[in-house]
Amino acid sequence: MEEGFYIDFLNVWHPAMRVAIIGFVLGWLGLYAYHHIRLLTLKEYKAKYDHISKYQANLFFYSILSLALGVMSYLNTLRPETVALAPMWFFVRLFVTLCIGTLIAYIAWLVLNYSYPTKIQRKLQYFRYKPRINPKTGNRMRLLSEEEEDVHLDEGMQAEENVFSVDYDVWIDEVTNDIKIEKYPGYLQASQCDRCNFQTLRLEKEEITKTATEDQDGELIKHYKCSYCNRIRRETKTIARLGASGKLYKLPEKLHFKDEMDKKVKTVELKIFSNDGKSRSFDFPSTLQAQQFLAEYESETVE
Ligand SMILES: [Zn+2]
Repeated sequence: MEEGFYIDFLNVWHPAMRVAIIGFVLGWLGLYAYHHIRLLTLKEYKAKYDHISKYQANLFFYSILSLALGVMSYLNTLRPETVALAPMWFFVRLFVTLCIGTLIAYIAWLVLNYSYPTKIQRKLQYFRYKPRINPKTGNRMRLLSEEEEDVHLDEGMQAEENVFSVDYDVWIDEVTNDIKIEKYPGYLQASQCDRCNFQTLRLEKEEITKTATEDQDGELIKHYKCSYCNRIRRETKTIARLGASGKLYKLPEKLHFKDEMDKKVKTVELKIFSNDGKSRSFDFPSTLQAQQFLAEYESETVE
């Protein structure tokens, strides 16, 4: 009686798994195709850039996840004769497929965190610096340097650039003087100021008003200041009671750059490694900018 029920169950399970294989494989290919078709239909390089930076990593992860589920569904249809012998074999097969599925998802996660960002970064750079064409005249536009572009940016935009929260690219059609300004995320976080609306509200200092102990939470006041309109905002935060966690990372007090080096240096690359094995690199056109960046970075809390 019980055996009959088990066989009936398998007669539903195996066809269901076959349907699932088709569904997940379509999901995998569909996400992949959607991303590339969307990229093709977006005409502007800036739009392509935004699409990649916003969606590509997620689409990659979900498409691999779908593939992993498809593989799991397929593995769950194998050796039907053996599985029909006893329910134990059904669970053995299920367990093995779960392990394989988890492994695939884990590898995808590793790739996504450690090698994929470089690939995406390269693609983003390509779309960001590919020469723009003026839609009105068809002329090739030129990207202005940091020094040249300031004339075309208003004060608020310059303030955003100075705290590295936003990076503006200014393209010029040198025949007609048409200007195209593109907005990119900067290296550092700054909140949008609720008075002037620029992304220039930066953490100025943190003040501990109550020290955290092993059995009591502490209190911290964060002082924010807008570097454009000088608005000041305070926020009170709770500091979690002390655990066994380590110390916060702090940049060295002094950083040495030779001034005359700036003339020969094309780009300055800064690479910051954090304890969890992640690294981020930043490019600057001059050591002066890199130094200013470090000054800003230091005031940013590293969680
Ligand atoms: Zn402001």
